[in-house]
Amino acid sequence: MPAKEWFGFFTQWGGGAATRGFMGVTAYQRWWLGDTQSDVEQFLKEEFAESGKTIHKLLWVGAALFFLRGTLELLTPIHYWNDFVVRAIGTGWLVGLCVFYSAITKMVHKSAVYGVYLTTFVSLVGYLGLQHNFHIGYLAVPIVLCLAFGVLTWPSLHGIYWPILAVVVPCATMLVLIHATTIDKTVYAFYLMVGAFFAIMVRRSRMRTAFTLFVFRQKLHNQTTHDPLTGLLNRTGWKEQSSELYTKCTAAGQPLMVAFIDIDHFKKVNDVHGHNVGDEVITTTAQKIVETLPARSLVARFGGEEFIAAVPNMTPEQSVRLAEYVRTNIEQIHHPVPITVSIGVSVTRGEKGISETMHAADMFLLRAKEQGRNRTCLDTGLA
Ligand code: GH3
Ligand code: MG
Ligand code: MG
Repeated sequence: MPAKEWFGFFTQWGGGAATRGFMGVTAYQRWWLGDTQSDVEQFLKEEFAESGKTIHKLLWVGAALFFLRGTLELLTPIHYWNDFVVRAIGTGWLVGLCVFYSAITKMVHKSAVYGVYLTTFVSLVGYLGLQHNFHIGYLAVPIVLCLAFGVLTWPSLHGIYWPILAVVVPCATMLVLIHATTIDKTVYAFYLMVGAFFAIMVRRSRMRTAFTLFVFRQKLHNQTTHDPLTGLLNRTGWKEQSSELYTKCTAAGQPLMVAFIDIDHFKKVNDVHGHNVGDEVITTTAQKIVETLPARSLVARFGGEEFIAAVPNMTPEQSVRLAEYVRTNIEQIHHPVPITVSIGVSVTRGEKGISETMHAADMFLLRAKEQGRNRTCLDTGLA
């Protein structure tokens, strides 16, 4: 496998597993959402960028505190100069991280750049520590903070192990190069584990909150765009999605079929059999319409016993054939109450937009009713 593919495999596989486990969005939750995976990720990304701003502010506060602490060292005897230098590096790193964070949020391949920054920082701290014989205890705080902030501000949802690797690998290399004692190595490993654990827990809990918000928002949106009786889109949902579909079809140069479907003499069903049976007739008809139309169609309950459907890429001839197929399928439903519908069909063409097409279909539904019901009337563009 070429290197690029290996990388892709590793990132996909490891990243996917890490994301699901770490973010708290499990396969089960995705299933529960109805496979709206890309939507979830987009939402979490936005949500994460939002909380990233808070961390960004915290970084500035951290930098100020680091700087203050370093300056205080200057007021004490010369013996503590080393401490000042280390804290100055820490300040520089935090300020760098702030500036960098602002920059990476505008970059496309930001996580790679960010990883390089973290690696370079830890390598630099390690190198300076080696050159100047600092006690390695001095370096632990900036390195562990680097790890924690690296995880918390990591711009990508996938591959969260990258900031950990970016810090741990150069840090471990430094410990080996300076022949650190086993105790020192153990202490470092402990600190790094605590740092990573803390950061992952914080990020995970933030993701869980964001996910809950997402589900709540989705449910609320569903309630405003769907009809509770049939589960089809309601008028609001139709308005939203039909204009989207129309834009897509126009861009692709495809005509869009629009059909109004209305149950015949429905009032009588209610009057004779009661509203419960009426509701049953509505849901049965809705089901049959959805079953009969191709999967790419949009179906909405437009009014009481009136449905509207849009099917992309349909000529007028195909449209009338499809509408007739829907009509006969409904006619053949085995139900104690015989169900028939009248259908008005129109197709977008030229300058004729979605609302004109809907109006035309509505007018031709009226014509179907006038001509005796249980039939399809097509807007031929001649009338
Ligand atoms: P036409 O063949 O001309 O369409 O006659 P119709 O009786 O089907 O049409 P009309 O518009 O006169 O009657 C529609 C009826 O649908 C009136 C209303 O009481 C009923 N209705 C509207 N919403 C619901 C609903 O959710 N459930 C039930 N059971 N009935 C409903
Ligand atoms: Mg009716
Ligand atoms: Mg009606």
